[in-house]
Amino acid sequence: RAKANGRGSFAVYVPELHEQLSERRQLEIDMRQALKANEFFVLYQPFYCVKSQTICGYEALVRWRSAKRGIVSPADFIPLAEETGLIEEIGAWVLRQACTDALDLPDHMTMAVNLSPVQFKSRKIVPLVRTILAETGLSPQRLELEITEGVMIGDQVEALSILKGLKDLGVRISLDDFGTGYSSFSYVRAFPFDKIKIDQSFVRDLGRTTDSLAIIRAVAGMCSSLGITSTAEGVETDDQFHILEAEHCDTLQGYLFGRPGPLQASDIQTGTAAQG
Ligand code: C2E
Ligand code: MG
Ligand code: MG
Ligand code: MG
Repeated sequence: RAKANGRGSFAVYVPELHEQLSERRQLEIDMRQALKANEFFVLYQPFYCVKSQTICGYEALVRWRSAKRGIVSPADFIPLAEETGLIEEIGAWVLRQACTDALDLPDHMTMAVNLSPVQFKSRKIVPLVRTILAETGLSPQRLELEITEGVMIGDQVEALSILKGLKDLGVRISLDDFGTGYSSFSYVRAFPFDKIKIDQSFVRDLGRTTDSLAIIRAVAGMCSSLGITSTAEGVETDDQFHILEAEHCDTLQGYLFGRPGPLQASDIQTGTAAQG
């Protein structure tokens, strides 16, 4: 399918390009079908709290169990879901599922849910979160919405007003993948985030480069001065754990503490599970 690209543009038939397009088209069709067939599901990865030395919450991570494709990871379908707008529906489903599952956890545990910049900019996000909180009865302060600096690209005034709308609901806002992308510090100054998640690339490089340690120390220090909770993602080894502990990161996340999976049975409160 050639698309008119405005003045002076012309389409050349490239077989590989055509193949790519139909593959994407097929993925889109399959995703729509997946929503109807209930093929999406959520895995939960724990947050470890350094101070209390316990699990203090979970992050919801979506997966797609496709009859045709097997288990598909978000990296392989979220980008197209964002382009096609399907992320709205998928994201709303994940949010509702995660809030419902959070009711099974002890009251002190939080539930983090990733928001796509597309979902965020649709302007429907504030009413959506309000509705889901009301429907599920989850305390707003137990819900953490993870955003990336992508939401700040474009109309910053608009982005800040949506963030404020969310904060007014009583939920917490985390800045995910901190340190990747552009000029994160201006965003930190522009908006009072509750939590900053240091990107896993910095943790991965600990012990390999001294730069990573310096950056983690600086970010953890900044968070502490600003009263923001610091988290490090992608903790896999004891060495990384001990360094991050020494650097006063507040919470840690990574395979060392648990891979994404079903909610840990030991954390589920029996007898208080939500109906339905
Ligand atoms: P993220 O939010 O930064 O999530 C962290 C990713 O790192 C997850 O990959 C997680 O499984 C992985 N991870 C956690 N600990 C470790 C570790 O110790 N080592 C390594 N190597 N990896 C670790 P996942 O689940 O494949 O998700 C990838 C990304 O997809 C997420 O990055 C997030 O941006 C996006 N995503 C996932 N679920 C959703 C969703 O429901 N909605 C939206 N909009 N995006 C989602
Ligand atoms: Mg995240
Ligand atoms: Mg991240
Ligand atoms: Mg990420």
